[in-house]
Amino acid sequence: MNVTVFGTGYVGLVTGTCLAEMGNTVVCVDVDAAKVERLNQGQIPIYEPGLEELVLANHAAGRLAFTTDPAPAIAHGDVIFIAVGTPPDEDGSADLRHVLAVARTIGLHLGAASIIVNKSTVPVGTADRVRDTIAAALRERGVDIGFDVVSNPEFLKEGDAVNDCMRPDRIVIGSSSPAAVAVLRRLYAPFNRNHDRIVLMDVRSAELTKYAANAMLATKISFMNEMANIAERVGADIELVRHGIGSDPRIGYHFIYPGVGYGGSCFPKDVQALDRIARDHGYTARLLQSVEQVNAAQKNRLFELIAQHFGGNLAGRTIALWGLAFKPNTDDMREAPSRRLLEQLWQAGATVRAYDPEAREEARHIYGERADLVLCEQAQQAVAGADALAVVTEWKAFRSPDFKRLAATLKQPVIFDGRNIYDPAAVEAAGIAYYGIGRGRSV
Ligand code: NAD
Repeated sequence: MNVTVFGTGYVGLVTGTCLAEMGNTVVCVDVDAAKVERLNQGQIPIYEPGLEELVLANHAAGRLAFTTDPAPAIAHGDVIFIAVGTPPDEDGSADLRHVLAVARTIGLHLGAASIIVNKSTVPVGTADRVRDTIAAALRERGVDIGFDVVSNPEFLKEGDAVNDCMRPDRIVIGSSSPAAVAVLRRLYAPFNRNHDRIVLMDVRSAELTKYAANAMLATKISFMNEMANIAERVGADIELVRHGIGSDPRIGYHFIYPGVGYGGSCFPKDVQALDRIARDHGYTARLLQSVEQVNAAQKNRLFELIAQHFGGNLAGRTIALWGLAFKPNTDDMREAPSRRLLEQLWQAGATVRAYDPEAREEARHIYGERADLVLCEQAQQAVAGADALAVVTEWKAFRSPDFKRLAATLKQPVIFDGRNIYDPAAVEAAGIAYYGIGRGRSV
């Protein structure tokens, strides 16, 4: 099939590439000329395991092209995906500027009947607005061309996006058009061989499904962080509690890790957007508001522990920070808990020596050169000359450090474990003070 994808970010690039890998001919369009230029030169703008090889192979095979020119791209696509960003607006609602700009562009160039598939995370009712925007542009041109607008929310996880795209848990298709559904069934057939993963529904339910999924995941995290804060105060260890509750199959072990709060480009903005959607429809989503409030407070937790350990005076201190990305296996630092910590440490007069396996360039891009941020090439380098170590992202490479060596390197041997990846007893046995999240230490 001929496929067009608007947006070459985490979702658009991965989706376009996986569709090309299955034999489709895919044209990806982006307004970011520098990004398109890099992609055409074989440089992948994001870090996503397994993506580079697939992009290069499919580009070389002529099944994957990148352009800034929408007209030929729209003429190419039997199916046209919208996978552009929907960042939060000032009031927390999803900013639909990019989605509607693409809709208008499609309307201005559409030459034949086509299926428009929205993959961006958008408020309920957006498919109608996309349809109206395309129809208005067609009317301006004085043409009458049939088109369908389908909602097909994306559930891939950064850090495992290629795998999620190739082997999705489910493929949600929201549409009232049997013809459009039949085309999408054909397009997704290679991803759907093992068993039927397609969940068909109306457009509005599909749009809400995406928000509901992210809100549920964010709720699990905030719930565990709330439990961790209680555990800390009553002298219990949240890690034991986690095992204790996870063994109940109704609860399960997945996604119940306490930590320094959720970040990334999706959970924070989607929880806020869903809260806003509820409000716009006359409902106060009290649970969602609490999920967000717990998370906002949790992002301060590591700084609070560090400040308390150093008697409230961090001026002139050097803190080693392991992990900048909002989670492992990505270079994405959008809303990352590391950013809050960095900024709080700087505010308090500390210098940070930071290491992340993939996000150093992103940190340089965000913060530029500054005297109080040293971006290190190796984990051990970050620790050299530091007073303390704070672990913010649970990259595998951080899981089994040489504690004896850390004890010898840190000026004041102390670890602030924002992800509870260490056994406190093992850390303390090496002569290092240990602080985790919700591990029976009250403040
Ligand atoms: P992103 O910011 O990484 O990429 C968006 C891309 O769209 C950018 O390259 C931008 O230049 C491009 N763009 C903007 N306006 C355009 C236009 N008019 N024409 C063509 N390209 C345009 O975004 P992302 O992380 O890929 O997210 C895209 C959407 O998918 C969002 O709605 C997001 O909520 C949703 N989503 C994201 C993830 C994720 O893990 N990142 C997962 C599921 C769903």
